[in-house]
Amino acid sequence: MWSMAIEKQRSEASRPAATQRDGIAATRHFVRGSKSRRASRRVPLAACTLEALRDAVAKAGFPAYRAAQVMEWFYGKHVYRFDRMKNISAPVAAYLDEHFVAFSSRLVTAQDAGDGAVKMEIALRDAFVVEAVLIKVPRRSTLCVSTQVGCPLACAFCATGQSGFERNLKAYEMVEQALHAAALMPRRRISNVVFMGMGEPCLNLDAVLEAVSVTNAAYAFRVGARRITISTLGDPHCIEKIARFPLEVGLAISLHSADEKLRRQLVPGAPASLDKTIEAAWRYFRETGREVTYEYVLLAGVNDSFADAAALAGLLRGKRAFVNLIPYNEVEGLAFKRPTPGKTAGFCKRLITLGVKAHVRTSLGGGAHASCGQLRLSKSAGSAS
Ligand code: SF4
Repeated sequence: MWSMAIEKQRSEASRPAATQRDGIAATRHFVRGSKSRRASRRVPLAACTLEALRDAVAKAGFPAYRAAQVMEWFYGKHVYRFDRMKNISAPVAAYLDEHFVAFSSRLVTAQDAGDGAVKMEIALRDAFVVEAVLIKVPRRSTLCVSTQVGCPLACAFCATGQSGFERNLKAYEMVEQALHAAALMPRRRISNVVFMGMGEPCLNLDAVLEAVSVTNAAYAFRVGARRITISTLGDPHCIEKIARFPLEVGLAISLHSADEKLRRQLVPGAPASLDKTIEAAWRYFRETGREVTYEYVLLAGVNDSFADAAALAGLLRGKRAFVNLIPYNEVEGLAFKRPTPGKTAGFCKRLITLGVKAHVRTSLGGGAHASCGQLRLSKSAGSAS
């Protein structure tokens, strides 16, 4: 149970400094220590690339190679206090502590859904709480990252969409979601990252791509580019930018209907018509050679008929597409229902019969309201720093 892990790490935080370890308690301790005005001026370490840290350290008169050592402790060994980085001398640690802070955010809860998914609630500097989900299955640990505080696109079936929009997340706030997740599982590493949590990544693309670079960087999380996916409603300009991005990340497009009118009802903030989005996705495939995944949330009695499957197949046939079918995860207060397993399997089979690759995504996290579309925006009682 994660609650037990949190308690264990809390008790570790009360040990003498030299024996403290990584995890929630350590990150909490560090953020608590950052409450002074001086602390709020310090730069979150996740906002620094290795090169930037090297420059800063060298400018301060210390050997530039210290920066790589710090990053190794920080990302590789889950040590978040400069004075506990064993090969970092006291003057360097003091300089770093003066100018940098390990976390701008604070892990508030890590709720275990009991099926491998853990929902994390993370309080930001301005007290908004965003959610990220870690999904652990044998040989894979996938992190679902939020990109905005809330979401302005208000999809009819999505809890995030119903909770409004506050602001875009900074790149370092996305990286910190991965740092909090990594601290929860010191013996495993994050193998896959999907930018599929709260928010529409294309409305915050520059920051998302910056976070992608850190996720992939050798000094940080070392997640292979092809194991990183950006999920979007499909703005053609955004798709073009992702295609030109030097890292070969995956693209997922949320469709939810092949009927323009129904899609507009389900996804009122869709940035382009279906035709324009599919055309842009096809160009993306031709330019990059990377197959596009299409996300389709199955809503009982709304978009789950054989006619809906035939329309979807008609839209995607010949487009090197892969369809991820997501049986709806019900949200309190919304009328949409999850289709039966039989209906879901029938829809999938129909698509395959019509020549479109498809599968039904195993939905984890329901026990903690951590499944797709169930994440909500909230505000914590106090600010994070
Ligand atoms: S489904 Fe995605 S794009 Fe739509 S409201 Fe929810 S978070 Fe925003």
